[in-house]
Amino acid sequence: MSITTRGRFIVFEGIDASGKSTQVNRLAEMVSAAGRKVHITAEPTTGPIGSLIRQAFSGRTPLDDRVIAALFVADRIDHLTNERDGILELLGRGIDVISDRYYLSSVAYHSSDIDMNWVVRANELSTDLLLPDLTIYLDVAPAVALRRLQSRAQQTDKFEVFERLSAAHNNYERAIELLGTRDNIQVISADGTLEEIAVEVQAVVNRSAGDVFQQAISTV
Ligand code: ADP
Repeated sequence: MSITTRGRFIVFEGIDASGKSTQVNRLAEMVSAAGRKVHITAEPTTGPIGSLIRQAFSGRTPLDDRVIAALFVADRIDHLTNERDGILELLGRGIDVISDRYYLSSVAYHSSDIDMNWVVRANELSTDLLLPDLTIYLDVAPAVALRRLQSRAQQTDKFEVFERLSAAHNNYERAIELLGTRDNIQVISADGTLEEIAVEVQAVVNRSAGDVFQQAISTV
């Protein structure tokens, strides 16, 4: 008989242009180079509820903020349980899963309009199913994120974008103050170069989820 050890679930969080998708890919390369199977994913998903969320954001369907927050929870439950590439099933098969955003994004972003405790409670419907083994928050200064966004695309209203980034940054700080200890959220300064951040990410992963790179898996 052989035993399959559960995969590890690592989440990257941060405001736009904090470098999440870049570091998700870097970490996945490292995990893969260590001989482990890895799956990259993101929220909102590309599944049916994720599509509804995009539709809601397009402004075509006006919805109460609480409905949008609940859609994100539904999307996350689908992310965990769907038959195509549900996270719970992948982890059960010993595959590591790295996600660009998870429930902390909901807590940070929805709490500009709704009481944070309401958002946390609503999200328990999904976090009761799975909490990350490790959440890495890439802490970038809003001004640095704005510069990165401007080099990527033309911004029509610089002030408005800066305000939006600053509000998200503040809300993340509040969310981490509330949940950081309970949920193993590690903060990394993300103002530096890609390389500097990747080195920090590796150190945090080794420290917080050390067996990610060492654990041997045997499949049934
Ligand atoms: P996010 O997924 O958090 O929005 P990305 O990884 O897509 O961030 O990065 C946003 C933009 O900023 C991309 O053009 C990327 O190449 C650039 N970028 C990411 N990290 C850094 C960094 N540390 N220094 C400079 N530019 C970066």
